[in-house]
Amino acid sequence: MFKGTFHAHSRFDDGREELESYIISAMAKEFKVFGFSAHAPVLIDSEWNMKEEDFDEYVQTTKFLKEKYKEGLEIYTGLETDYYPGCVDWRKKKGIDYTIGAVHFVKSETTGSLMPVDGYRQEFEDTLRDGFSGDVQALVRAYYGQIREMLLNMPPNIVAHLDIIRKNNGNNVFFNENDEYYREEISKTLEIVSLTQVILEVNIGGISRGYVEEPYPSKWILESCLDLDIPVMINSDAHQPDMIDAYYREAVSLLKDIGYSHQRVLYGNEWRDISL
Ligand SMILES: [Zn+2]
Ligand SMILES: [Zn+2]
Repeated sequence: MFKGTFHAHSRFDDGREELESYIISAMAKEFKVFGFSAHAPVLIDSEWNMKEEDFDEYVQTTKFLKEKYKEGLEIYTGLETDYYPGCVDWRKKKGIDYTIGAVHFVKSETTGSLMPVDGYRQEFEDTLRDGFSGDVQALVRAYYGQIREMLLNMPPNIVAHLDIIRKNNGNNVFFNENDEYYREEISKTLEIVSLTQVILEVNIGGISRGYVEEPYPSKWILESCLDLDIPVMINSDAHQPDMIDAYYREAVSLLKDIGYSHQRVLYGNEWRDISL
């Protein structure tokens, strides 16, 4: 089984430990390729994101490790970039090999501010109540609308955890994925993913941290992705080195079950499809 991941957080942002610990763990777990993806700095207050002044050190450290471990593992320098109105475009920054585009903060028309969609349950409730007057349908539409805007205005290489808005939705407490409006939002969004040729990640980080029981996105969404020929990639979204392959094998089985035979990864400095 080919193992790779392009999604990892370290002490530079909201993860733990030095970058090198992730590489040592990746080699022990027989990964072939490993990409770092610190949360790129944002223009709002956030505890999750890397500070602007740490950016150069982050890039330099990843390049140093790439050289040091070149015999054992391919290493790439990425960023998980937040998309929101007025955000910085990090795609062409020197030293960056790829970006994973995400929406973690959704713009509320009521408050005019950016509010978290994947924080703790209390934060989600605050966003829903204060930013969207308790109207979950409006929040869902705003979230997926912002993802589509990202795909059209600033397409990243990879789209992160497409339906992370369901992070706190265990037992359908806030919304139901079977509702017609929800299905419609997904289908409109996948159409744009397919048009823009962006890779969709299968994110196993939410399971390993105990938030959800299946990867992002849900299985029915992945089935639609296959119908639309959207390339996928399995990503750890690890915040600590020992978690980089938690649920990896299960994600491979899930994709094979659905009918996928390959995942698309950056390998040998090229985007290519590798057998699952
Ligand atoms: Zn994320
Ligand atoms: Zn992440």
